Amino acid sequence: MAADLLTFVDVPQRRPEKRAAGVRRADFDEIFDEYVPERAREQAARCSQCGIPFCQVHCPLHNNIPDWLKLAAEGRLQEAYDLSSATNTFPEICGRICPQDRLCEGNCVIEKGFESVTIGAVERYIAETAFESGWVSGPRPRAERPRSVGVVGGGPAGLAAADALRRHGYRVEVYDRHDRIGGLLIYGIPNFKLEKDVVRRRTDILARSGVVFHTSTEIGRDLSFSDLRDRHDAVLIATGVYVARDIKAPGVGLAGVVPALDYLTASNRMGLGDTVPAFESGALDARDKHVVVIGGGDTAMDCVRTATRQGARAVTCLYRRDRDNMPGSQREVSYAMEEGVRFEFLATPEAFLGDERVEAVRAVRMRLGEPDEGGRPTPRVVPGSQRRLPADLVLMALGFDPEPIAESFGTGDLALTRWGTLKTDMLTGRTNLAGVYAAGDIVRGASLVVWAIRDGRDAAEAIHLDLEAAASRPLRAAG
Ligand code: FAD
Ligand code: SF4
Ligand code: SF4
Repeated sequence: MAADLLTFVDVPQRRPEKRAAGVRRADFDEIFDEYVPERAREQAARCSQCGIPFCQVHCPLHNNIPDWLKLAAEGRLQEAYDLSSATNTFPEICGRICPQDRLCEGNCVIEKGFESVTIGAVERYIAETAFESGWVSGPRPRAERPRSVGVVGGGPAGLAAADALRRHGYRVEVYDRHDRIGGLLIYGIPNFKLEKDVVRRRTDILARSGVVFHTSTEIGRDLSFSDLRDRHDAVLIATGVYVARDIKAPGVGLAGVVPALDYLTASNRMGLGDTVPAFESGALDARDKHVVVIGGGDTAMDCVRTATRQGARAVTCLYRRDRDNMPGSQREVSYAMEEGVRFEFLATPEAFLGDERVEAVRAVRMRLGEPDEGGRPTPRVVPGSQRRLPADLVLMALGFDPEPIAESFGTGDLALTRWGTLKTDMLTGRTNLAGVYAAGDIVRGASLVVWAIRDGRDAAEAIHLDLEAAASRPLRAAG
């Protein structure tokens, strides 16, 4: 059915219903409801169908946004899903957790003056309708190929590659050191942004379509990298970045000063019904505590909002620059503010105080100085501005670096960048070793799910091309 489009002048932006802050603080459920069908159509129809769609240009997957918005506005949801899933392996996930304010929606031309089209919410709606209607199927290869690919890491990069390779008919085996597949989608990102069933639904589909998952299998410990290469015709490394950055300050080793991801993983495991001794002993539980989170990115926002839900007495976020210079999504910051988190901008810890356990943070004020190499203003200490903040739990959310992968994989000949990430051809994920590819955070450094999907898909295409080119080589025995 044809729909009136370009309605943005008369129809205001409406996001799906957001649960009230007081209600959502009491649980870990997602904070947004689904669009009802009429609202999704109405909001999709606001798109002005730009000749040069900047939304699409700024989506890392170059999703054909205007076309699937038009189809959604016309109620042609199955076609909309087919189009959206042609470029995005996990549209239901990106629709929920992409920082749209920095990507597609932030670049929507009607943003200035009329507020952007709600692209992420419509993408999620289309995908959820497809799941409910039974339109989502896993890879169904037309023919099986006699070659296999080993994928190290079952996060979004590895899974996107696994999906694409399986579609081509390869035997795909994913190895992950965790006991569940999903990487940071399961053990990093909290439930209130991405419910775990949404991830499980996808990994179940992949398993049913023939992707083999080896959980609790760490490459470099349970299976050597060279054995892995012998087992498969190509190997993709998608192991993410996990070494928590630290600061050098007195008292940083006190009990109660904890890396953010340890804390978030414990909380996610509790939500999944696991037994987590460090949570049950109280070490990683924020209940009744004064919590101070150091950092201003997405991980810091996930920590403050998790602590709030765990029943912390007070939650304070210390960030050394101002709000405009925060690295994460501004929307996440507003949600945290609505939920009662206190922000201390232009503040940084100088020392962690206490005997064995942390009792307080000595913070100092900062001012913004001249721009650094990346153009962001350099924070400078304001002398004499120290203050003491009570703290029973301090969560360090200062970013992540790669593990020393060449060491843990026992392959010194794998080329690295000066940051310790894997050196690859950015378009194909090819490393310097024949038959070895890499994708996601282990290549880019800590980044975004949508970029991990993009890299996984690109690397899968390169693997396919290279294996096709080498098709005349003698085959390995299957099994
Ligand atoms: P990962 O998701 O890290 O997966 C890597 C996998 O490799 C893991 O499962 C790990 O167990 C496995 N592995 C590692 N080494 C080995 C080994 N030797 N053997 C076997 N397996 C191994 N991005 C967004 O877009 N939106 C968000 O809202 C968002 N929130 C975030 C919140 C937090 C707390 C964090 C930490 C990150 C967040 N991100 C977010 C970033 C996003 O999660 C990552 O960019 C993305 O998950 C990277 O995907 P990946 O597949 O490269 O790595
Ligand atoms: Fe926007 Fe992310 Fe969807 Fe691209 S994948 S359209 S950036 S929400
Ligand atoms: Fe539609 Fe905005 Fe994209 Fe233009 S930039 S096509 S208005 S969503």
